[in-house]
Amino acid sequence: MSIEVEMVKCACADCVCIVSAGKAIEADGRSFCSDSCATHHSDGEGCEHAGCVCHG
Ligand SMILES: [Zn+2]
Ligand SMILES: [Zn+2]
Ligand SMILES: [Zn+2]
Repeated sequence: MSIEVEMVKCACADCVCIVSAGKAIEADGRSFCSDSCATHHSDGEGCEHAGCVCHG
């Protein structure tokens, strides 16, 4: 028996992060990897993942 974890790409266009469905942050019916992405980087911060260039 295996547990399948669904992986989804962050809905932020510039973000390359993949998050498991259980840990994704839901906003506007889409899944994001972090609060920064979920708020469309309104605070000017990128997601906290190394190697990702998204800043909104
Ligand atoms: Zn990212
Ligand atoms: Zn993201
Ligand atoms: Zn982002």
